[in-house]
Amino acid sequence: MSEFPARPLPALTEDTAPFWTAGERGELLIQQCDHCRYYIHPPTGFCPQCESRETHFQPVSGRGFVETFTVNHKQWMPGLPERYVLALVRIAEQDDVRLATNIVGCDPDAVTFDMPVRVRFEQAEDLWIPLFAPEEVFAPENAA
Ligand SMILES: [Zn+2]
Repeated sequence: MSEFPARPLPALTEDTAPFWTAGERGELLIQQCDHCRYYIHPPTGFCPQCESRETHFQPVSGRGFVETFTVNHKQWMPGLPERYVLALVRIAEQDDVRLATNIVGCDPDAVTFDMPVRVRFEQAEDLWIPLFAPEEVFAPENAA
């Protein structure tokens, strides 16, 4: 069962749809410059490094680290849990790609800075939301 049954969903655009839908295939896709290979997030179709407009969506490992986080203690909307973790996760491939997400699969008090995490997807209507759980959750002895 979803930890976020009433999550507000982002609107899909041509630029953002690949990011929000690739989770159906278990893939985390990050926009990447065709020329200098810089990862671009949020996806804009424009490379801030070399100013190219030629980009594609590249599957990444799904591994990352908690850059910063906060624990929410208030139920802002009916259906949302009272305690959950809002976080910025930097992807393993590039330090300045930071995904605004939730840390799931552990007690909010267990989350720490630089904690290794891995993506897991939560389906919400047509979207697959990238959330992250502690790397240790994926260890064979903890697999569900
Ligand atoms: Zn570039």
